[in-house]
Amino acid sequence: MNNLAHLVEVMGIDAGGTMTDTFFVRADGEFVVGKAQSNPNDEASAVMESSGDALHLWGRKLEEVYPELVTAVYSGTAMLNRVVQRKGMKVGLIVNRGMEDFHRMGRGIQCYLGYSLEDRLHLNTHRYDEPLVPAERTVGVTERVDCHGDIVIPLREKEAVEATTRLLDQGAQAIAIVFLHAHKNGKHERRVAEIAREILARRGSNIPVFTSVDYYPTRKESHRSNTTILEAYAAEPSRKTLLGISDRMRGVGAKYDLRVMASHGGTISWKAKELARTLVSGPIGGVIGSKFLGEALGYDNIACSDIGGTSFDMALITKGEFAIQKDPNMARLLVSLPLVAMDSVGAGAGSFVRVDPYSQSIKLGPDSAGYRVGCCWEEGGIDTVTVSDCHVVLGYLNPDNFLGGALKLNVERARQAIKTQVADPLGLTVEKAAGGVIEILDQSLRGHLRSMINAKGYNPLDFVCFSYGGAGPVHTYGYTEGLGFKDVIIPAWAAGFSAFGCATAEFEYRYDKSVDIAVPPSASDGTKTASCVTLQQAWDELAEKVIEEFRINGFKPEDVILKPGFSMQYLGQLNDLEIDSPLGTVSSVEDWNRIVEAFDETYARVYARAARSPELGFGITGAIMRGIVATKKPKVPMEPEEGPTPPRDSELGSRPFYQRGVWKIAKLYSMEALRAGNEIAGPAVIESPATTLVVPEGWSTRLDSHRLFHLREV
Ligand code: AMP
Ligand code: MG
Repeated sequence: MNNLAHLVEVMGIDAGGTMTDTFFVRADGEFVVGKAQSNPNDEASAVMESSGDALHLWGRKLEEVYPELVTAVYSGTAMLNRVVQRKGMKVGLIVNRGMEDFHRMGRGIQCYLGYSLEDRLHLNTHRYDEPLVPAERTVGVTERVDCHGDIVIPLREKEAVEATTRLLDQGAQAIAIVFLHAHKNGKHERRVAEIAREILARRGSNIPVFTSVDYYPTRKESHRSNTTILEAYAAEPSRKTLLGISDRMRGVGAKYDLRVMASHGGTISWKAKELARTLVSGPIGGVIGSKFLGEALGYDNIACSDIGGTSFDMALITKGEFAIQKDPNMARLLVSLPLVAMDSVGAGAGSFVRVDPYSQSIKLGPDSAGYRVGCCWEEGGIDTVTVSDCHVVLGYLNPDNFLGGALKLNVERARQAIKTQVADPLGLTVEKAAGGVIEILDQSLRGHLRSMINAKGYNPLDFVCFSYGGAGPVHTYGYTEGLGFKDVIIPAWAAGFSAFGCATAEFEYRYDKSVDIAVPPSASDGTKTASCVTLQQAWDELAEKVIEEFRINGFKPEDVILKPGFSMQYLGQLNDLEIDSPLGTVSSVEDWNRIVEAFDETYARVYARAARSPELGFGITGAIMRGIVATKKPKVPMEPEEGPTPPRDSELGSRPFYQRGVWKIAKLYSMEALRAGNEIAGPAVIESPATTLVVPEGWSTRLDSHRLFHLREV
């Protein structure tokens, strides 16, 4: 292929619980989406299969395309699964003497994270997960640094020697060192690491050693411990998985350095020193993709919604920015990693459907069939009804077009399962029962979406809703109905939207450090200057870490655009706001005033002008440094509009479709064959190899020149 415009440059990958999606973009902006069933035991194979599926649409082979690629970004659930299933490394933990049970006990809230309201209320359902490090592999060492960073008890080095020896004798495969207040003074942690490395060298071992101060220098002991332990427990083994994927790609000629989506919304190299931040990556892609599209097309306020086989994920973009959660929980562990703020519900197209024997009502999930679809896919070995079974029985999905026909779905098997497991016990017909399932799901998703927006003090009237994920378009009408969104938008590449989002993300490292800066209203100029110095020192330290990470990938410091930021609050407040610094460096009273001004402005925008409280003084709680290097990004599609009538070759006939208690005849269309400007009135079903847009009676949709469907009630 010598046409430069046809060179394939960018690839995004979303290895989800159900499907592995790939998204390829050419130099001329054209793209294709590929899907394959996920393979938890061999992610690399699923990526290859999915790539093949995508590139086949351009009539091209992996061996031709991989060498052309400039950028590839991966997101997946492997690391999260490793943590959830407790299949990580045997970590040995060194803590303060007397604090040995701290990690095992965990914060109280961890025992009910992820619970529904009724389970939160009942203490007897609270469950403590197995700790990442068991008691016998945790050793205390005497030392003490106080909350100001002053050493009050010197380190007993002899105990550190004993601790390391004991952990090694017990077969530790990594060592994590976490002392109280180490983020204020890491001297003791670093000294213990030195001692441990000496012992390791003597014993001819090269297991990794992690100190919290060098990885996650943030306050809150439980968060800092969990995150440092995760780095040892899960990140190192995941690096092997990523290496495996990278090797397979190199095997077909890839030359790029594989990057991974990280929880802060940027992408990092799989070689990055701190990899735990890729623990949650999959659903973030969609939010980044929404932001990218929003910026390109002028949508400022976006409600992002993603439904796949296993979950419903929501996020808000307000005035072009998504929020960052600073101390989120991941896999029921509180961690100190910045995470794109998202709400997730365990409800998707693969969710199991059961009749509650006590209340005789239909219950959905929270578990799901994952990549095994439901009873309708015999080979999957699932015998419990799923939402997908209801989809095929009611005509929502075409049983011969699942993954473009790669999986043949058995409607009769689904019908039988629904009959015996749901319809008969409730005394309903099969379609009434299946229709009820769809309505329950729609209603529950709608409720979640509405409360997510309202809880943040916003109104859907000010937002457009983006709907994606393979199953998003199947339910868009159902979960947006009556909410009053300004517009409801479904990208034609909804099924690969998260993978697309990964391809749009920046190559960006972000590091955080806690600082304690307090400037009361009466503060002298000296205090303000000293505050600038403290902040600047933290920035310098973080910038060095960021540049070091880029260096691993062969970038020079001058290639990196540094963006400093900080977390600030009015003195005495409990919460802070994250601000992009208006200045690259700070040193003077004037600089301090500029910083305060930037905070005041943001505060007035996020809350209200009248809520500003400068009379309390100002506090900075955290320093943030982001570093970015430019990478190749996809283009937003642009096609000339044709008339409202869909072309002949887009029509695929019709099929019975069950809607609100009545069978209707829905017209069928091929999504790929529709042209910009086309309008379709329901009942209609628009089919694509990996997603299906359902347009019920009373609704209509229009395809715009960017290949975005706009869905509305007429
Ligand atoms: P995702 O996990 O985002 O890939 O979404 C997977 C879901 O997409 C499936 O569980 C289906 O409910 C839905 N879907 C809709 N149309 C199709 C199709 N043609 N092939 C496969 N999945 C589809
Ligand atoms: Mg998905």
